[in-house]
Amino acid sequence: MGLMDGKKGLVLGVANDHSIAWGIAQALHREGAQLGFTYVGEAIERRVRPLATSLGATLIEPCDVSSDEQIDALMAHTREVFGQIDFLIHAIAFANKDELNGSYLKTTRAGFRVAMEVSAYSLTALVKAADPILAPGASVITLSYYGAHKVLTNYNVMGVAKAALEASVRYLAADLGPRGIRVNAISAGTIRTLAASGVGNFRSLHRNVAEHAALRRNVTIEDVGNTALWLCSDLSSAVTGDVIYVDAGFNIMGPRKSED
Ligand code: NAD
Repeated sequence: MGLMDGKKGLVLGVANDHSIAWGIAQALHREGAQLGFTYVGEAIERRVRPLATSLGATLIEPCDVSSDEQIDALMAHTREVFGQIDFLIHAIAFANKDELNGSYLKTTRAGFRVAMEVSAYSLTALVKAADPILAPGASVITLSYYGAHKVLTNYNVMGVAKAALEASVRYLAADLGPRGIRVNAISAGTIRTLAASGVGNFRSLHRNVAEHAALRRNVTIEDVGNTALWLCSDLSSAVTGDVIYVDAGFNIMGPRKSED
């Protein structure tokens, strides 16, 4: 018996086998879940198809989250294939590279809009469209980062978008809670992925975390996948509207003297 036997759902945000969404998909599959995947553009599709197929996925659809039409088409197709869904994984973020370098002060109106739309509003848009097919007891998960609360060099507009994303989690959890549907965020530690490579000097941040996190290491997509599995399963049945840190304890540490 797997923790997710008989459960089905969508995983959005696999770009390759380094993606956090891929770690989540593998954990859910291991425990018996049936999965549907999405991609944006042909280059990502070429990577996602073989990965999704290796986990027996029957639904592999395009979905650019800045398009309501594509979101609606995804949910219509999901209804045909799965009927209702028990989980929805949102592991998506984007900001122009220019906005993830130097000072926050130079953020442009256009750059702010794109970051907010793709990285924050998309969760609300997806949950709204999925609402009619979310099964009672369903679990929605998004991915956040420490930069929502603390100023991290170069993270800039993405930190502002993550703050909006975490607030959206609470509002969505309140709206869907009466139907037993839960919405949570995982605030993951730094992981070397495609998205992370867009953040200026990410390597040095990644190194710094390994030196200063309570567990003295970075996290893996397996660490995040296992926590997502817990949040999707009935084991977390009373957890909603929350932000769960999977960061090897980086966020609990105060300032350190250089010789520590
Ligand atoms: P990733 O590059 O593997 O995944 C990001 C995904 O977002 C990609 O699959 C990409 O195709 C998708 N995406 C971008 N724009 C899109 C759009 N318009 N429509 C649909 N999909 C779109 O990187 P990742 O690090 O696995 O990122 C997943 C999530 O985890 C993001 O929300 C990211 O902010 C968050 N996160 C990452 C880290 C880290 O250090 N890597 C830490 C904390 C949180």
